[in-house]
Formats: sequence, C-alpha cells, structure tokens
Amino acid sequence: MGHGYDIHRLAEGLPLMIGGVPVPSEQGAVGHSDADVLLHAIVDAILGALNAGDIGRHYPDTDPAWRGADSARFARETAARARDAGWEPVNLDATVLLERPKLAEHVPSIEQRVAECLDLEAERVNVKAATNEGLDAVGEGRAIACHAVVLLARRHR
Ligand code: MG
Repeated sequence: MGHGYDIHRLAEGLPLMIGGVPVPSEQGAVGHSDADVLLHAIVDAILGALNAGDIGRHYPDTDPAWRGADSARFARETAARARDAGWEPVNLDATVLLERPKLAEHVPSIEQRVAECLDLEAERVNVKAATNEGLDAVGEGRAIACHAVVLLARRHR
C-alpha cells in the first residue's frame, strides 16, 4: 500500500485541474506542471507502494520538460511502472480538500477519468471532496490539497 499527499497554492486566472478534469473555478492551482493535486497525490501513493521514491524524483519541477505537463501522463506512466514491476492496482481512495467551488457534481467524472488514467475499472476508484471548515490556507481558499491511498497486489502470472 502507499500514501500520497499534495498541496498547491491557488491563484486567479489559472485552470483548475482535478483528476484530469478541468473544473470551472475563479481560481486555479499554481504549479510547474498542470498542478493537478489529485493526480500528483495518486502518483506519490503508487510510487510509495512500489518503494520507488516520489513524484519529485521522477518528474522534477526543475526540469523544463514538465512545464505545463499533463499530469495524466504522470499517472499513466506510474501505473505502467507498477505493472512492469509485477503489481496491479486493486483500489484507490482519495480526499480532495478545497473550500470552493464545491466538487460533488464533478466527482463522478473525476473518478471516471482517474480510472481511465490508471487503466482500472471505475468502481475501484473512490474520490471524496471535503472543505477544510474555513481553517488554515485550504479553508481560507488559498490552497487545494489532496490525500490518496492505493493498494497494489501481485499480478497473476
Ligand atoms: Mg503537485
């Protein structure tokens, strides 16, 4: 099993990508890539389960190649890395922390997109959306954060 956590600052006039889905919002996430906090947490969870370091090691934000990069690519490549190493994702659970907009209506499409990125059945992906109850940077609407856990199992031979 592996755990991933990510947080990005929010700023006006930027796109807000969550799980590969563009979410209509006045503010978007600041980052070197497309700043997709959910996919970054998922990548870290898979890498953690594989004992393979973290997203910064595989996709360093000092590398111009990843400027504006589509994080779905990171997720697809990381899932492929797991399979190449003999592991199959069993299920994934994530919590996205964002004060606004409310994400509930977007959760089904986000889960679908994440499942596609990882080549998983949709029912193996659960995404929860929560606010931070007005507390800290997330609650003040200045950041978006995400926790993710993933379970991997040995692939059948
Ligand atoms: Mg990130």
